[in-house]
Amino acid sequence: MNEAVKKAILEKIKSYDKIIIFRHFRPDGDAVGSTKGLAAMLKLTYPEKKIYLQNADFSEYLSFLGGEDELLPDEEYANALGIVLDTATQDRISNKKFVLCKELIKIDHHIPVQNYGVMQWVEEHRSSTCEMIADFYVTFKDELKMNSEAATYIYTGMVTDSGRFRFREVSGETLRLAGELLDQKLDLDTIYAHLYLRDFDSFKFEAYAHQEMQITENGVASLFVTQEMKEKFNLSNEEASASVSYMETIKGSLIWIAFIENGDGSIRVRLRSRFVTVSELAERYRGGGHACAAGATVYSKEEANELLREADALLKEYKANNKGWL
Ligand code: AMP
Repeated sequence: MNEAVKKAILEKIKSYDKIIIFRHFRPDGDAVGSTKGLAAMLKLTYPEKKIYLQNADFSEYLSFLGGEDELLPDEEYANALGIVLDTATQDRISNKKFVLCKELIKIDHHIPVQNYGVMQWVEEHRSSTCEMIADFYVTFKDELKMNSEAATYIYTGMVTDSGRFRFREVSGETLRLAGELLDQKLDLDTIYAHLYLRDFDSFKFEAYAHQEMQITENGVASLFVTQEMKEKFNLSNEEASASVSYMETIKGSLIWIAFIENGDGSIRVRLRSRFVTVSELAERYRGGGHACAAGATVYSKEEANELLREADALLKEYKANNKGWL
């Protein structure tokens, strides 16, 4: 699919000596895996080219994948091709210096709310941007090189963004592409251990969170994580944010939402759902994302409650008009 745009992207990559790869801020496994995977693949294939990863924030949880490059001086961007991965809108790009690149390409699997760059390859039905990078590799297998390092990065993002190959976007193609990566002999025990083992303290927090979580009349589960809770349980922002997953298996609760205080007056909202689309709700609160996994920002407890009321109304309407949900 999208053969022409993939071919055009490959030609653009070939025509540049310098390529700088960007991703969204507050990176997840897909953002880190796709950027590091594409960089590793391009370095292997084109050792004469300069390939950089230029990002302004990092993820502690994904540090096992290794670091990224130090920020380059501004003049280094001028003659570079920028490739932005896994980022729906320009305002979410981690490193604002992307504007200095000569040309920009967008590769993404989020709902396309904004076009940017000279070329866009967006496939919102894909389970991850990493899946698209794996597809890019397989499409041009005669040209591009892969090894176990690059495959580890890409596979990691496929695993995390698809909920371990569980979400509805997972297709036969997803698994065939994952299979191509597994042919590179990956150390799955170590990858999964890094991704899913947790510190002892976080289990204590989970027990507390199970007591604190609320449910609305129509079944929206929610959890509000304050700064005090983070301090009490010694939680990083990433650990506090992971609490959204504590609510994902409540029967009849088709929408679940974690509100996490950022410490600067803003509150991060993580919306998750099954069957029901929550991305449009997120868009009304300065956010966006995927149909069943979206993010937003609110600025007070009152606004959080307002969002919750909207979510409750959405779920009420969904349940009234649909059958077969669980
Ligand atoms: P999160 O809960 O932060 O993991 O976000 C879920 C999905 O929604 C991810 O794919 C994010 O990239 C996307 N997302 C989160 N926040 C926003 C936002 N403010 N605007 C657009 N997309 C977002």
